[in-house]
Amino acid sequence: MSKLVEFFSSLRWRVFLIVFAIGILPALIGAYMIYSSVRERSISSDATSISSQATLIADEVISNDYFNNPSQENMNMELSAIGNVYSGRVMILDAQLKVVKDTYEMYEGRTVVWENVILSAYGNTTSDYDEKNHTLTVTVPILDEETSDTLGIVLITKTAEYMEANLAYYWSLCVLFSMIVAFIALFVAVFTSIYSSKPLSDVRVGIDHLAKGFGDGNLRLNEYSETQAISDAFNTYNSKMKQLDDSRQEFVSNVSHELKTPLTSMKVLAESITSMGEGAPVEMYREFMEDIVNEIDRETSIVNDLLALVKMDKRDAVMNVAPVNLNELIELILKRLKPIAEKQEIELVLESFRPVTVELDEVKFTLAISNLIENGIKYNEPGGFVHVSLNADHRYCYIRVEDSGMGIPEESLDHIFDRFYRADKSHSREIGGNGLGLAITKNAIEMHHGEIKVASTLGEGTTFDVRVPLSYIQEEVL
Ligand code: ADP
Repeated sequence: MSKLVEFFSSLRWRVFLIVFAIGILPALIGAYMIYSSVRERSISSDATSISSQATLIADEVISNDYFNNPSQENMNMELSAIGNVYSGRVMILDAQLKVVKDTYEMYEGRTVVWENVILSAYGNTTSDYDEKNHTLTVTVPILDEETSDTLGIVLITKTAEYMEANLAYYWSLCVLFSMIVAFIALFVAVFTSIYSSKPLSDVRVGIDHLAKGFGDGNLRLNEYSETQAISDAFNTYNSKMKQLDDSRQEFVSNVSHELKTPLTSMKVLAESITSMGEGAPVEMYREFMEDIVNEIDRETSIVNDLLALVKMDKRDAVMNVAPVNLNELIELILKRLKPIAEKQEIELVLESFRPVTVELDEVKFTLAISNLIENGIKYNEPGGFVHVSLNADHRYCYIRVEDSGMGIPEESLDHIFDRFYRADKSHSREIGGNGLGLAITKNAIEMHHGEIKVASTLGEGTTFDVRVPLSYIQEEVL
C-alpha cells in the first residue's frame, strides 16, 4: 500500500500524467471536432439538395395547378418516385396546412401544425435532423410568383441511413486515430517520466553510495547543471559537518587533556607525600597539601567553565531577558574585581558616557564582561590599568575594555575565542587560565545578538569592543 502511495506521489507519476494529458487531449478534441464538422456538413449538403428538389416540386405544383387538381397521375407518380429515392415521404400542404398529398397516404385530408410547417407557412425554408429516427425533414414554402403569398408547403423527409453509415465510418477512423495518438503519448510519457526523474535518482544513489562509506565523501554529479548545483550544496554542507565533527573531536581531546593535567599533578604530589615517610617536616606536608588544593581548584574551575559553555552552546539555551541598568551592572562587576586588581597593583577605571538600559540575561552578560576585565587584570603588569568605558546610541550599547598589559601576538588574535586556546601557554597556565574564558564571553555576547572585536599591540595592551542591541531580538533573522 505504502509503495502505491509512494508511486502516486512521485515526480515520475506526475510528469507521466502531464505529458500523457498534453499528448492525448488535443488529439481527442481535434478528432471530435473533425467528426462533428463532417457530420454538420453532410447534413447541410443533404438539406440543400433536398430543398432544391422541394423548390422544383413547388414550381410544378403551381404550374400544374395541383391544388385544384390533386389527382394528376404523372405528378403523383413523380412525387412517389422522389419519396422512394429518399426512402422517405413527400407531402404537399395547402395554405391552411391541410395535407393535399402524402406519398405515405397517412395524413391526406388532415391538418398538421408541426413547428417547421408553421415556419414555412410564413415563407421560410426549414431543415431539421431527427437524431433518434435518423431522418432529415425539409420544408419549402410554395409562393405565388406575383404576390409572394404562401400558397402551400412542400415537405420532404429523407431517411439518412446512408449518411449515418458514412458517419460511423468517420467515427471509427477518429477512434483509430485517437488510439494511435494515445499509444504514442503513452510511450512518450513513460520515456519522459523516467528520463526527467533520472537526475533525482542519480542524486539519491550518489548519497546512498556515500552513506555506505564509498568514495571520498564528495558527491560528483556533473551531467546536468541542476545536479551539479545539488552536488555543490551537498558538498558544502558535508564539509561543514566534517569541520564540526573535527572540532568536536578536538574539543573532547582538549577536555580530557585539561582535566587530566591537574589529576596527574595531584597524583605526583600525593605519591611524594606518601614516599616522604614518617620523619618529613610538617611544613613540607602543608606545602604539598596546599598544592593539591590548588590543583583541585583548577579542576573545579575548568569543570565550572565547561558547564557554563555547554549550557550556552545548546541551541535552545534559556535566556532570562529583562531590562538592566548597565551602568550599575558594570559598577558592580568592577567593585567585585577591585580587590584582585589592587592585589596586582592594577588601576581599574570606569567611564560612563550616559545612562544605559539594555535588555539582557544578567547572569550570562555579567560572566562575559567579568571575563574581559579579569583578563585585563591577569595579563597585565603591576602599575598598569584596565579602562572600562560604556556608551550607547539609539540602537546599541558599546562596552570597551582596554588594558595596558602584555598584548596578544597578531597570529593568535584569530584564535583567542577558540576553546582551550592560550596565546602564551606556559604563562597563561601560571596565571591560572584554562583557555575557556573568551569562548564563554563570545558565546554569551552572540546569544544577545551582539558582536565582539579585539585589537592588540604586543607589549602595549589589548582592547576588546563589545556591541549589543538595546532591545533583545527574539527571533534571529536568517
Ligand atoms: P584564559 O583562561 O587562558 O585567560 P581566555 O579564553 O580568557 O583564557 O583567553 C585566551 C587567551 O587569550 C589567553 O590565554 C591569553 O593568552 C589571551 N588573552 C586574553 N585576554 C588577554 C588580554 N587582555 N591581554 C593579553 N592576552 C589576553
